[in-house]
Amino acid sequence: MQFLKTTTNKYLFLVSVLGFIAFITIYDFKIYSISEWSITIALAGAILLLNHHPIVLPPKGNSLSMDSSIFLASLFLFGLDLTLAVLLINSILFAFTQRKIVWWKHIFNFSSYVLMIVGSFYTFTLTGGSIGSIHINNSVPYLISFSSYFAMNVIFVGAFFILAAAESFESVFRELIKEAISPYLSTLMLSLVLAILMSSDSFFGLFLFTCIAFLLSLAFKQHFHLFKEISEKANKDFLTGLNNHGYFKEILEKEVTAAKENDQPLCVALLDIDDFKKYNDLYGHIEGDHLLQVFGSLIKTAAELENFIVARYGGEEFSIIMPNTTCQKAISFMNELRKKTNDTYYKGVERLPYGCLSFSAGIAECEKATYNISELLNKADQAMYAAKDQGKNLVQIYNQYSEYSAQRSLSLEKELEEAEQQLRIFLSKDVYTYRHSKRVYQYAIDFSRLLSLSVYERKTLILGALIHDIGKIEIPRDILNKKGKLEPHEWEMMKKHVTWGKEIISTNKKLEDLIPLVELHHERYDGNGYPYGLKGKSIPKLARILCIIDSFDAMTTERPYQKTKTFEEAILELRTCSGKQFDPQFVEPFISMIKQLDDTRELVESESLVVNK
Ligand code: GH3
Ligand code: MG
Ligand code: MG
Repeated sequence: MQFLKTTTNKYLFLVSVLGFIAFITIYDFKIYSISEWSITIALAGAILLLNHHPIVLPPKGNSLSMDSSIFLASLFLFGLDLTLAVLLINSILFAFTQRKIVWWKHIFNFSSYVLMIVGSFYTFTLTGGSIGSIHINNSVPYLISFSSYFAMNVIFVGAFFILAAAESFESVFRELIKEAISPYLSTLMLSLVLAILMSSDSFFGLFLFTCIAFLLSLAFKQHFHLFKEISEKANKDFLTGLNNHGYFKEILEKEVTAAKENDQPLCVALLDIDDFKKYNDLYGHIEGDHLLQVFGSLIKTAAELENFIVARYGGEEFSIIMPNTTCQKAISFMNELRKKTNDTYYKGVERLPYGCLSFSAGIAECEKATYNISELLNKADQAMYAAKDQGKNLVQIYNQYSEYSAQRSLSLEKELEEAEQQLRIFLSKDVYTYRHSKRVYQYAIDFSRLLSLSVYERKTLILGALIHDIGKIEIPRDILNKKGKLEPHEWEMMKKHVTWGKEIISTNKKLEDLIPLVELHHERYDGNGYPYGLKGKSIPKLARILCIIDSFDAMTTERPYQKTKTFEEAILELRTCSGKQFDPQFVEPFISMIKQLDDTRELVESESLVVNK
């Protein structure tokens, strides 16, 4: 038996056989009266109609069918035999109308319904429920038979998913129960409504119920259609029809998470049309708009061939997410696209500086240590500006050692001034944190000179060092200045300064790049730090560097809750914790810098002694 080779098929076969046996042994094939036949056929027809018109629910479009309401109403009013006859007729009619569905699915469906109906019938009668009319005294048996119907349905469907998709038991059932419980409860309640309607006039009651359910289905379909239309509009750019900025960020967030989880490369490109203002000035905004549409569809067509995702980033800037793509592949794709753009004629472009339509683009690759999508976009943006600086109509890949962010860091002094202003609040509350921050900042200046950091990284490290403890503003004075050991709950509060710090600087867009330093400078290389317990290279590089500087200063200066170490002792401690708390690649360079500083300090001190003499 070829069919029985897989576990899933064995399961389907088992349920089908059990259902059939239950049907044959329980159903008594008696001759019905004309009125019984009429109601049976009417019920089966109503199920067929309502199965074609389920109630579609946003956001995912799950559909709620009324068949269970009708089966249960029939069970409570007419008993098991007639309900099984309804099921049989309905299943035969359904199999005829849905011939595209494979035969074994029809059999499995029929059998699982037999088991569900039989199960809920016996739980109903065994718990004291009486068949024939709807009565409040039957409340408990109704509830129990509903639960058994629901439980069996979840088990039949869940077991199929577990076997077919090899998903975990817990996740399947949690998901099923979460999704199904409220629609199910409403279908089960509706079965009582139908039964009450039918108990005063079977045919008219069924007719009324079917009409209402049918009209509801139409209304919900329209509602769902509208919902889809609106959610699509909210995600699309009006002019080009591409994904808009907000939705692009949402997709990028998901793609970056997936790439990190699956250990796959991912690149993102930002494109900016060259000299677009000139085109607008020459031909007007309406022509400009049209050019944006043409350019949008040009890049969309090229990107879709590679399963890349395109968005209008804003104005005349576009972005492309390239999942599962290495830098090399990304750059060759972008260069192809650039050539294609140059070769695509659009009226009037001959008067642009290059005599053709062109763009400049920057590419950034997502790395393990990439902290968030802003960092990734920032890199792509810097690379794009580098492409502009080099004469436009170019694709540039982000390189951390390039100095192309030099221009942007001219404002460092101004930003330092602002950060210093924020820090001054500590002067009255906790002078230690103020002075500590200033020393860490000075170490960061010296250390960043020694390391081969890009201008952007240097600036970020220095600013981050100055402001890294800003979250301590939220900690009560008596804890900050407590002499002696902190209580466990006080430590817990102390640890929160990294999260509070992140929240404080998140309110200022200009300080966005400093978030990883503020939030993650207490992560440890071995994964035992806080707040997330990140490990190794998944901690951003600058946060790993800051951790060393910060700890060194903490060890060597007077703190309320620990003994001060000499420089030699602290150096020894850095070495002991290298590879545990600290990234080993930065420990020795930092120690050599400290030794150099120490030598200079000694020299200065001895010289001043000579002068004083
Ligand atoms: P560069 O090569 O340095 O990118 O120069 P540029 O002229 O392309 O860039 P700049 O940033 O100086 O100007 C961008 C222009 O894009 C200015 C703005 O009027 C125009 N623009 C932005 N959005 C739209 C739009 O929706 N429609 C039209 N027609 N123009 C737009
Ligand atoms: Mg621009
Ligand atoms: Mg431009």
